[in-house]
Amino acid sequence: MLYHYTCHHGRRGIGFSGFIVPTPSLWGLPLVWLTDMRPPGREALGLTSHMLDCDRLAYCYKVDAPLGVEPWLESRARADAPLLSVLMLEQAPGVDPRRWFVSTARQFGALDRHYGLQFRRDWGANAGATP
Ligand SMILES: [Zn+2]
Repeated sequence: MLYHYTCHHGRRGIGFSGFIVPTPSLWGLPLVWLTDMRPPGREALGLTSHMLDCDRLAYCYKVDAPLGVEPWLESRARADAPLLSVLMLEQAPGVDPRRWFVSTARQFGALDRHYGLQFRRDWGANAGATP
């Protein structure tokens, strides 16, 4: 089982269940980012920056059947990425790239309805935003 964390914008796009569509990475290659972390580590996953009103850990999707997913560190995407982009991702403070998984294929995810009750409350201003 892998997980995809997203903000209320992402939640709106995916719905209660649906496809998680690759979005352009730093160097342009569209990727879906997944992790095995639950609960997530905000710094470990590098989900600290984004628009100010976005909590990128607000919602969790469970991906039961990951399709064409590779561990980031062993991925084709990383091997082909510009070194500078790789360094920017992997040298951000507190990140743990061993917990990152990527795919260039869309993934089917189901909203984890228990996740918010267990974890989301602690996560600041946007925690209660309704999708
Ligand atoms: Zn957002």
